[in-house]
Amino acid sequence: MSVVQRNLRVNGSRLWDMHMEMAKIGPGIAGGNNRQTLTDEDRQGRNLFQKWCENAKMAVSIDTMGNMFARRAGRDDSLAPVMAGSHLDTQPTGGRFDGVFGVLAALEAVQTMNDLGIETKRPIEIVNWTNEEGSRFGPPMMGSAVFSGALAENVANATQDHDGVTMAEALDAIGYRGKVATKPRSIHAFFECHIEQGPYLEREDKAIGVVTGVQAMRWYKARVLGEARHAGTTPPSSRKDAMTAAARLVLKIDDIMQKRGDAGRCTVGILQAYPGSPNVCPDRVEFTVDMRNPTTDELNLMDKEFRRAAEDLYVDTGCGVEIEETWFSEPVHFDSNCLDAVRRGAEEHGHAWRDIMSGAGHDAVNVARLAPTAMIFIPCKDGISHNEAEYSSPEAIAAGADVLLAALLDLAE
Ligand SMILES: [Zn+2]
Repeated sequence: MSVVQRNLRVNGSRLWDMHMEMAKIGPGIAGGNNRQTLTDEDRQGRNLFQKWCENAKMAVSIDTMGNMFARRAGRDDSLAPVMAGSHLDTQPTGGRFDGVFGVLAALEAVQTMNDLGIETKRPIEIVNWTNEEGSRFGPPMMGSAVFSGALAENVANATQDHDGVTMAEALDAIGYRGKVATKPRSIHAFFECHIEQGPYLEREDKAIGVVTGVQAMRWYKARVLGEARHAGTTPPSSRKDAMTAAARLVLKIDDIMQKRGDAGRCTVGILQAYPGSPNVCPDRVEFTVDMRNPTTDELNLMDKEFRRAAEDLYVDTGCGVEIEETWFSEPVHFDSNCLDAVRRGAEEHGHAWRDIMSGAGHDAVNVARLAPTAMIFIPCKDGISHNEAEYSSPEAIAAGADVLLAALLDLAE
């Protein structure tokens, strides 16, 4: 019976150096990274990660979705592993920390265990999930979705990028379609470190966010239907302009968010007008809506308000609205034991911490279907992410990795 060692620190400069080394692969144009999934840059990043894992005496296996698992044996290697990781792919204009931090913090935790000669009862696995970002192939979090059984592998494999290349072809092209079947298996606990991608931790001077869950999300496609008319000859009284009607509805959607203070999120990210001529009043405007809230009940209310606003729009403008819901994701609540392990880790290192809900989706959401799961957030400068300017300090990432190490040792013993 061995006692878990407390208050161990990772090697912060080694962890920082690994980030900077990884960032050299697929450099962006403004100091960040463009290492999109299953590109040659992704291949190089994966190769570097594999080399580091092998140097740390871990065996790397790759599944048919290209998910990479590096395994450190436990004293009882028949037990289910404790797993940690995230993703190495980036957005086209991505940062150096989103995803990368979660993979490298796990690697650094294992390297620290090696340095200190620490063995754990359970094996420890580090994972690099394929295609978390979803910018080249949709949907996002694809590797972990297939692994957890939330997405069929043949559906994932058939998705195409802008050039018509399928996911399966891209996996083959970079030599990362592995032999291990991608399917659920027993995991004792899963931890994902990630930058917050929002402003709260920095604003409140907290080093650690104990991520209690991920908010509910709903996506829509909205179609506003008017009448195409000559821009010069049609007086206001004769118009059914889909663009001005859509603009009103977009502002109503913003109201739905604003009236909820900090709790609601509404975003119109893509908007297209048809037929698309400068001197024709559009007869059709299509736009996407992304709505989020920590609770499904409140998200349902937001849905009702959105649909009512669409009905009112017809009364006010004569333009009808078709609303198609394209995605719904239930809120996720992480495991209380895993969360307590993270809180204990923060306490023993004297890091200021707070509980926090994640505004973004993460691979941990998929893994939470299979295994007790928690996430650890660290602050990032000005809350900026999915942007090449994304930054977290060497001290911030070391603090997150220290807490991860503590939580891994807790759960692996
Ligand atoms: Zn990420």
